[in-house]
Amino acid sequence: MNHPMFTYDARMTELVLDFCRRRLALDPVPLDYGGLEPPRQGALDGLITEEGRDAEEVLGIFVDELSTSILSTDCSRYMAFIPSAPSKASLLFDMVVSSAAYPATSWFEAAGVVVAENQALRCLADLAGLPDGSGGCFVAGGSAGNLSALVVARETAAARGGAAVHRARVAVSEEAHASVQLALRVAGMEALVVPVADHRLTGAELATALASNPASHDVVAVVGTAGTTNGGIVDDLAGIGAVAAEHRLWFHVDGAYGGAALLSPGKRGLFEGISLADSLVIDPHKWLFAPYDCAALIYREPRLASDVFTQHASYLDVMHEEDQAAEAWNPGDFAFHLTRRARGLPFWFSLAVNGLAAYRDAVERALETARQAAVLIDEAPHLELIRPPELSVVLFRRPGWDAAGYRAWSSELLRSQRALVTPSAWEGEAAARFAFLHPDTSIDLVREIVDSMA
Ligand SMILES: *Cc1c(COP(=O)(O)O)cnc(C)c1O
Repeated sequence: MNHPMFTYDARMTELVLDFCRRRLALDPVPLDYGGLEPPRQGALDGLITEEGRDAEEVLGIFVDELSTSILSTDCSRYMAFIPSAPSKASLLFDMVVSSAAYPATSWFEAAGVVVAENQALRCLADLAGLPDGSGGCFVAGGSAGNLSALVVARETAAARGGAAVHRARVAVSEEAHASVQLALRVAGMEALVVPVADHRLTGAELATALASNPASHDVVAVVGTAGTTNGGIVDDLAGIGAVAAEHRLWFHVDGAYGGAALLSPGKRGLFEGISLADSLVIDPHKWLFAPYDCAALIYREPRLASDVFTQHASYLDVMHEEDQAAEAWNPGDFAFHLTRRARGLPFWFSLAVNGLAAYRDAVERALETARQAAVLIDEAPHLELIRPPELSVVLFRRPGWDAAGYRAWSSELLRSQRALVTPSAWEGEAAARFAFLHPDTSIDLVREIVDSMA
């Protein structure tokens, strides 16, 4: 007889699938914030017992006590941080991935997963103009992608007899994402912080910093950001790429948020030079409508990454045997991880079902919302647009407000379930910030929010 944990339970299956059906059918998805309180104290006391409990009871506790304290980042009213907006197709296919422990580490176990994930990666590599032969894997997030890429940069420099590994530095702009600095700390590297005049790292600024800094001979890589998280600003990738080539530096492009805008013909020019990248990160769980957690990590020469990350052990060697098919590809070899979920499949399914035109259109909608929001802000006598949006982030000020003023306004918007818009800062001063991403965020709502600041 099956162990009870492994016996199909029709009732529990219906309960859970029914919950999923109702969640998927929510229209609109509410912000879903039960209040400013965390879950009720003691709500889970004694829940885990020797005997276990009825699934309906536990699901009920999740619905009543926990789900009420979880914001829906996929709500079109969510405009803080970087939202998420998984397509229905991607959410459904995530459930397929969850219906089994699909392996996704090696060709040996999961060639069927690998070819689909690689098709989705190829699609992104083509958008960025990366050559045939480039490739990588999906990792949990941009942070994991940045860390893995920068470690490959360092190890490659060492293997090529460049800077001493123990002193390796990476040139970064002060606007680079916090995860880049964190990656350097984790990997025991240091940053050479390049001052930037206008929040956008240029090739000239990189060249000046390299020429004037005595530590520059330890620099092994440079990070260009394709869409800063706070301002949506794309660095001068062509200029940085040229200086990187001249100095034989690894060129990593962090497009975790902004890379999706490669889909927009009107924005492509901003990304000129992205095709020079040695490694590139784009998060489908941000602006490519996939559920968490899914970040694409692509290397120009994937072999350099597998040389660093392939884990060898007697029980694993069967995965790397030479007699494998020529197209054998082990996602586990291309980042700091081994066992992994088939996290690229929901994105792949959604791309295939919806088609690129739908993706392009959804990205364009957020860009258009940002353009229209900027006009509204510009025209509002009580507000000040900080700079015209390059992508879908809009920074602006409410003269007269200090940080507490922004916080009070933001809390009230959330309390009334109208929107999540959180304050940020710009050049040391408090500021307001919209991050648009959901194609259904309405300009009427944006107008209402703008008016609420009068
Ligand atoms: C969000 C973001 C990251 C971090 O990505 P996670 O998926 O949250 O780990 C890195 N870089 C940029 C530019 C980002 O916007």
